[in-house]
Amino acid sequence: MTLVRKNIISAKLYHILYGLSLLSVYVINCCSYLLYFSTVICFILYYLRIICKINKYFMWFCVFSFYHFRTYPIYLFIASIIYLLYGNTLFEKLDRSESNNIVLSNKMISSDHYLIRIKSVNKLDFKPGQYINLYYNTQKRPYTPIHIDFNTNEIAFLIKSYNNGEISPKITENYLVNSVIYFKGPFGTKYYAESEDLFYSNSISINKTNILMFSCGTGITPFYSMIMNLTNNTKYNIHLYSSFRSPNQSYLFDKLNHSNLSKYAYFSSESNKLNLDEIDIIFKSFDKSNTIVFVCGTNFYNQMIIEKCSEFNIESIIF
Ligand SMILES: Cc1cc2nc3c(=O)[nH]c(=O)nc-3n(C[C@H](O)[C@H](O)[C@H](O)COP(=O)(O)OP(=O)(O)OC[C@H]3O[C@@H](n4cnc5c(N)ncnc54)[C@H](O)[C@@H]3O)c2cc1C
Repeated sequence: MTLVRKNIISAKLYHILYGLSLLSVYVINCCSYLLYFSTVICFILYYLRIICKINKYFMWFCVFSFYHFRTYPIYLFIASIIYLLYGNTLFEKLDRSESNNIVLSNKMISSDHYLIRIKSVNKLDFKPGQYINLYYNTQKRPYTPIHIDFNTNEIAFLIKSYNNGEISPKITENYLVNSVIYFKGPFGTKYYAESEDLFYSNSISINKTNILMFSCGTGITPFYSMIMNLTNNTKYNIHLYSSFRSPNQSYLFDKLNHSNLSKYAYFSSESNKLNLDEIDIIFKSFDKSNTIVFVCGTNFYNQMIIEKCSEFNIESIIF
C-alpha cells in the first residue's frame, strides 16, 4: 500500500500482486487434504463472523484455545464467559483513526466549477497563497486551497474543469465523496505571513505597501487565500482587480471584505472587460516606488499585465 500511496505502482497492480500471493498458498498445498479441510473451516468462520456477527477477538481466542490447548477446554469456557459478558462492547468500540486523505464533499457550483473539500491525514503547515499538488493516478496539477481548518485538517478548493484539459476534468469527476486521494504540499515561495504581516516572494519580504492584485477566473484563489488571512491592522493597502466571464462566475470575489481592501470586478460578458487603457488609468494613480503588482491568470492575461508593468516600471510577480 505504501507503493500505491507514493504512486510507484497503481492500486490495480497492487491488488493483482496481493491476489497472486494469496493464490500461491493454494497452488503449493493443492495435494494436501488439510487445504480442503481448512477451506471448509474458513467458510464456517466467515459465516459466524459476517452473518452471525460474532466478536472477532472472541473467535480468535477460540481458535487459539482449540489449537494450542485442546486438552484444556477451560480456555474455551473462559472465552465464552468473556463473550457473554462483554461480547458487544469488547474492543469493537475502540476509536479507529483514518490513515488516508479522503474527499469530504464535491459540489458542482456551475457547469464547470467545483467546490471540493478533502480531509488530510496529516497536519498542514500552510501559508496563505501557497498551493497543493492534487493527483489523479500519477498525474498532478497545482491548486490553491481557499480555506484550511487547522483543527480538523479540512482543505477546500475551487476547481474549474477545462473541457480540453487533461487532469482537471478527471479530478472533478473522480474525487467522489469518501474516495481516497493523494496530494503533496503545500508548496510555493509566494505567500502572506500573518504573524509578521508580511508578503513574501521567493522568501524575500515585500516592503512596498500598495499591492495591486490582478486575477482572471480561478486565478483569484491565491489572492482570496491571502486577503482572507490579512491581519486587521495590516500595513498593506490591497487593490484587487478581478476579471470573470460573467457575474455569476465571480466566485469568492463577493466574500472578500477588509478595511484595507478595494476591489473591482470586470466581466467580459458585460463589455467591461479589463483592457490596456483601463490598466493605464489604474497604474497612473499609484506611486510606482511604493507599488507592486501580483498577477494570476491565463498566460495571455499574465503577459498583458506584465508588459504594462514594464512600461510603467512597476515591479510585478506572477503567481
Ligand atoms: C500555483 C497554481 C495554483 C492554481 N490554483 C488553481 C485553483 O485554485 N483552481 C483552479 O481551478 N485552477 C488552479 N490552477 C490551474 C490548475 O493547476 C490547472 O492548470 C488547470 O486545472 C488545468 O489543468 P488541466 O490538466 O485540466 O489542463 P491542461 O491539460 O494542463 O491544459 C489544457 C488547456 O486548458 C486550458 N488551461 C489550463 N490551465 C489554465 C488556466 N490556469 N487558465 C485558463 N486556461 C487554462 C488551456 O487552454 C490549456 O491549453 C492553478 C495553477 C497554478 C500554477
